[in-house]
Amino acid sequence: MTDTLRICEIFHSIQGESSFSGQPCVFVRMSGCNLRCRWCDTTYAYQDGSPWTLDDILSRVADFQCPLVELTGGEPMMQRASACRLMTQLLEREYCVLIETNGSLPLDDVPRGVHRIIDLKPPGSHVPHDSVLWSQFAKSWRDEDEIKCVVSSRDDFDWCVDKLKTYDAMGRVIVHFSPVWGELSMPELARWICQSRLPIRFNLQIQKVIWDPAARGV
Ligand code: SF4
Repeated sequence: MTDTLRICEIFHSIQGESSFSGQPCVFVRMSGCNLRCRWCDTTYAYQDGSPWTLDDILSRVADFQCPLVELTGGEPMMQRASACRLMTQLLEREYCVLIETNGSLPLDDVPRGVHRIIDLKPPGSHVPHDSVLWSQFAKSWRDEDEIKCVVSSRDDFDWCVDKLKTYDAMGRVIVHFSPVWGELSMPELARWICQSRLPIRFNLQIQKVIWDPAARGV
């Protein structure tokens, strides 16, 4: 059986939402998502897409001659088995591999060495509390893990801080907080982070600063 993944798009851009922010990166955007965040900016990934073989994906990625590759979505772990095989093959080819995932699905199968960037969805996202896979958050963190919190309000900020402390992530992994684009002011979030005295990094979706925030495939 040929191994395939349903892919929305593969493109070369600037990584904007992790400790790799600012670096050129190849994005492999997978189709389908099991959540519906209020501020989702990739709704086109819910349905769009076509089947690609792993060989074709690897060949397309190689075209960009870029050592950094991110699996994103949609939710890449919805296609868990094939996504994990793709990550393994990328590691074998000595790429630095990231996966951005929405925190609702098991991540144990993600190969060691892959940087797992896990989104934590606060109430303002309108993601139901029981959609988050809290048992995953309760497991041991890996050194490469990072957590990204996109927040729309002070309530979201406080909720995320509380969860990160509860699940022993604060100070254990790199934690990023971003403002919901066009909704929470950047200076306000910056002030909350400074006042918290916590090891939180302010993160900006810099792809939205560089290009039109509504642009696709950048
Ligand atoms: S998890 Fe990501 S792709 Fe899915 S709805 Fe939320 S923001 Fe959109």
